[in-house]
Amino acid sequence: MADLPESGSNKNRQKKLWDNEDPKKGAGVHKKHGPFSFINPRQFNFSIWYFVVAFFLLTVANQYFVRPPEKSVDYSEFKSLVRSGKIKRVEMAERSLKGYPYTKQQAPAVGKKAGTDSAREGIYRTVPVADPQFTRMMDSTGVEYYAVPQSDGSWMGILVSWVLPFVIMILVWNLITRRMGKMGGGVMEFAQNKARLVAEGDVKTTFADVAGADEAKEELVEVVDFLKNPGKYTEIGGKIPKGVLLVGPPGTGKTLLARAVAGEAKVPFFRMSGADFVEMFVGVGAARVRDLFRQAKEKAPCIIFIDELDAIGKSRAPMAGGNDEREQTLNMLLVEMDGFDSRTGVILLAATNRPEVLDAALLRPGRFDRQVLVDKPDLKGREAILRIHSKDVHLDESVDLAVIARDTAGFAGADLANIVNEAALLAVRAGRAKVSQPDFMEAIEKTIAGLQKKGKLINPKERRIVAHHETGHALTALFTPGSDPVQKISIIPRGFSALGYTIQTPTEDRYLMTKDDLLGKIDVLLGGRAAEQIIFGEVSTGAANDIDKATDIVRRMLTDYGMSEKFGNMVLHSRKGPSFLGDTGPVSREYAESTQQYLDEQTAAIIGQRYRRVLALLTEKKLIIGKIAGILLEKETINESEFREMAGAPKAGA
Ligand code: ADP
Ligand code: ZN
Ligand code: MG
Repeated sequence: MADLPESGSNKNRQKKLWDNEDPKKGAGVHKKHGPFSFINPRQFNFSIWYFVVAFFLLTVANQYFVRPPEKSVDYSEFKSLVRSGKIKRVEMAERSLKGYPYTKQQAPAVGKKAGTDSAREGIYRTVPVADPQFTRMMDSTGVEYYAVPQSDGSWMGILVSWVLPFVIMILVWNLITRRMGKMGGGVMEFAQNKARLVAEGDVKTTFADVAGADEAKEELVEVVDFLKNPGKYTEIGGKIPKGVLLVGPPGTGKTLLARAVAGEAKVPFFRMSGADFVEMFVGVGAARVRDLFRQAKEKAPCIIFIDELDAIGKSRAPMAGGNDEREQTLNMLLVEMDGFDSRTGVILLAATNRPEVLDAALLRPGRFDRQVLVDKPDLKGREAILRIHSKDVHLDESVDLAVIARDTAGFAGADLANIVNEAALLAVRAGRAKVSQPDFMEAIEKTIAGLQKKGKLINPKERRIVAHHETGHALTALFTPGSDPVQKISIIPRGFSALGYTIQTPTEDRYLMTKDDLLGKIDVLLGGRAAEQIIFGEVSTGAANDIDKATDIVRRMLTDYGMSEKFGNMVLHSRKGPSFLGDTGPVSREYAESTQQYLDEQTAAIIGQRYRRVLALLTEKKLIIGKIAGILLEKETINESEFREMAGAPKAGA
């Protein structure tokens, strides 16, 4: 029975993760899809500055090199210049008059400085006065004149009328093209960008690259076989699971395993991370899902692998106001999963380290109906993983991988790969050509400190408590008549809730339980805490889950199964009020207040009595507890036959 729930702080951390998404991933998403992500900042700056500078230079050039100097004059002087023939051409605007000392034909070529004498004298400029005589006078003297739309030619004018629209245009154009790229073109290009399609034979990873996950491998062998010979299964009419969910703590090799399945089956492998689907624009994630499945069907047989499924698969909020985009994406995923037949040869693999947050709809039959647990490796597994990763590392004779494996209890595969690398770096830093055992020891120490800080590793004292606690469960089960045999004891943390576990497998299917069976179950549940009490003289919070279960059984015996002395054969109903948004209403009982008190007292009495029995039993076995716990600390897992032998019990089945 899994027990020793993670400490309070860990729970909080998990709760936080739930609220905020994975911090690592969250950051990634944010960086990638910031509010202006559709404008690539570098490109954006480049294009704008390019135009601004070019325009500035042109204007300056125009002002100082091309155009002759302008001279402001009074209107009366301007008029007399026209009359005297000095001004041969007049440009009329609403708020300015310009007089050129040459006609259109004489005008200097653009870009060249005016060569004529008159040109060098420059242009006259004035502010017009309401003077209807003026045009008539120009007609009579034969001066060319024409009107232009308003432009006072000032810097501000140029800026407002020319540069600004230009800038705005560039901005808008930039925005539109990026957005289009995201919405339309992006989906087209997505095969290249987002789902890394590894063509047949390209996946080099095989099961040989994965160690210490034998149970998971066994389950996946069938998937590989199906992908290799789909006919074998479809002819018989058998159904292969559509979706396989790899569940396990981070760094245990889930991604590696998925890759290995593709490598073994030699089929294309589409890998996407859940975060890839969570886009800024509503509908894009859903479009990606659709496209992913469409492509996969074309390449069948193949594997779709959705890493970090929890990023899209989080349970949908009970109220409105959740993340619409994520919900749409999830819905599309569900639709696509229902829409394809595993006979098409597409297998969907997914990985998550937080299965508890997944939407229940994802786990229904026909979807991810098969779950494969990828646990942290045990002693042997760790040694094998170390061997794989140190294959290409030069080790000197002092290195003993078995010793390293022993000192790295609780490490995941990724941590071990990291240790090998770290040790190699230490050797290089010391100027040695080969890695030595002390390098490894130093690397382990560093990593342990880091992992403990992150709450991923339990300290040695806690491990001792867990070992004795689990042994207590197992021994109680062994010496409780009618109890299911112990199949496995382990102190490898199960990641999510348990620091250790004891698995009991029933020898046969059971639909009925006698009162003694129930009491036996309670005893086994209390065995963990009793062992702690006996060995350490104090109890820990590790038994919280056990106590919860034991209390529940006792309560049910009294209220549901009619097993109490006073109210035998009578059911004592208590109804929960209607639930509203996850909160349950007040509990209404169909019995007297005094009965409730009786129930509480009886519960306490039964549990107390059972606990005393277990204490007596285990005190007698104190030496055996110590012995088995010691072996457990060293080996981390003990199987059924080993356990029976150590406990001095007859062989199973005898
Ligand atoms: P997860 O997806 O479960 O978080 P990964 O598959 O990404 O873990 O593992 C990260 C790396 O750690 C792998 O690339 C591999 O080098 C190493 N690793 C993890 N588990 C194992 C294992 N069981 N056997 C060999 N290497 C492993
Ligand atoms: Zn327990
Ligand atoms: Mg992974």
